[in-house]
Amino acid sequence: MKKEKQFVVIGLGRFGTSVARSLHRSGYQVLAVDINAERVQKFSDEVTHVVQADTTDEASLEALGIRNFDVAVVAIGDDIQANVLTTLLLKEMGVRYIVAKARNFLHGKMLKKIGADRVVHPEYDMGQRVAHNLVSTNVFDYIELSPNLGLVEISAPHALVGQTLVGADLRAKYAINIVAIKRGEQILVPPSPTEKITAGDVLIVVGQNDGIQRLEELE
Ligand code: ATP
Ligand code: ATP
Ligand code: CA
Repeated sequence: MKKEKQFVVIGLGRFGTSVARSLHRSGYQVLAVDINAERVQKFSDEVTHVVQADTTDEASLEALGIRNFDVAVVAIGDDIQANVLTTLLLKEMGVRYIVAKARNFLHGKMLKKIGADRVVHPEYDMGQRVAHNLVSTNVFDYIELSPNLGLVEISAPHALVGQTLVGADLRAKYAINIVAIKRGEQILVPPSPTEKITAGDVLIVVGQNDGIQRLEELE
């Protein structure tokens, strides 16, 4: 079943192909665009449509009917100029939601200024997630919500096993919230305040980074 929203992904590097492939697998119509014929050829079986075009060229974008897309993902990486020009043109053409990949924070700032609705820093974000994972072996995943706020997936520290959420009083002690508990195949969401944490539970936690860190440091 195809869903309504139409996506265009520009730039078929590793990031762009991964985004395009995931959207396609979820049942969405995806147009993938790259300036490089070889990359277009290689990707031609994978998504709904793949087209070779230079997206810094306004006429080429017009010809693709870009203004009819709901979401555009600008996944051009190394060529900052092409990335920025493409984003600007998409914005001017009235694409409703533009996600752009930035190489660094200044680049990201510029993308915001010219109208990108969302800026992603894949290398930075992934680096942070991997680091969290390495520093603390009981952390499975970390997602930055803002510079000092995060969402973390952490195996329940032994110190909390047997305690209820009310008893552990994590909100008061660490200013964090447990939004869900994964227990085997089961996901408790939202968890009841009287739920007892058991060994092997995975806690999904939202909170300030210092609170999360203190939780990570519990044995
Ligand atoms: P990634 O870091 O995601 O693996 P990459 O480093 O392999 O990407 P990038 O330089 O980031 O490659 O560019 C991603 C893609 O964007 C490339 O396949 C490139 O051909 C394409 N691209 C670059 N400039 C344009 C342009 N003006 N129009 C369309 N596509 C472009
Ligand atoms: P408070 O008066 O502190 O705001 P509350 O009115 O939300 O608490 P309860 O929901 O019964 O009352 O929770 C009491 C305490 O139990 C909370 O303050 C908190 O420390 C802990 N608690 C309950 N649920 C959670 C949760 N999902 N994550 C973290 N702590 C929780
Ligand atoms: Ca790259």
